[in-house]
Amino acid sequence: MQVLKEKILKEGKIRDGNILKVDCFLNHQMDIKFLNEVGKEFKNRFNGEKIDKILTIEASGIGIAAITAQYFDYVNVVFGKKTESLNLDKEVFEAPVISYTKGKEYKVRVGKQFLNEGENILIIDDFLANGCAAKALLEIAKQAKVNVVGVGIVIEKGFQGGRKVLEEMGVKVESLAIIKEFKEGTIVFN
Ligand code: 5GP
Repeated sequence: MQVLKEKILKEGKIRDGNILKVDCFLNHQMDIKFLNEVGKEFKNRFNGEKIDKILTIEASGIGIAAITAQYFDYVNVVFGKKTESLNLDKEVFEAPVISYTKGKEYKVRVGKQFLNEGENILIIDDFLANGCAAKALLEIAKQAKVNVVGVGIVIEKGFQGGRKVLEEMGVKVESLAIIKEFKEGTIVFN
């Protein structure tokens, strides 16, 4: 997605640990006009697929998924929660994740009532690095016996192993921008 690549080049900052900071349009401040284009592009990538629900993970996935859902006939969005709370139902699907940016392990949980057997699910997230977050959502999808139509990612760091992990699980991965490498402080796309 050319406009996304241009935005990354203009506004993205490379941080230690191969982290790309895109706080000005994706992870802190959200550029809604631009994210509408992201939503439309996900619709193009998964056009013709029957999608009943979008599944994502808090926090940054939520806004992207909510905007994208509008292009899939306003399907509901379900997001995995990262912290336990009294509000969360006792009946949950859960899977472990090792956080790429925080380096900590946590569990992602989804209330069982929000994923129904046989539903067609699109998984959406902001970044794909080692594939841990998306893999956890796929594990939850498996527990819920839903069909995963694909995984849609805004920015994939192609030099990390995430795509391989997901494709080995038999899932279609569509990334709107794939970073080949960070080279001498610059961002190189596939
Ligand atoms: P993975 O689980 O694939 O290793 O990492 C994906 C998750 O870690 C995403 O949900 C995202 O929140 C975070 N993440 C991974 N790499 C980056 C990065 O370079 N920049 C930002 N902002 N988040 C990242």
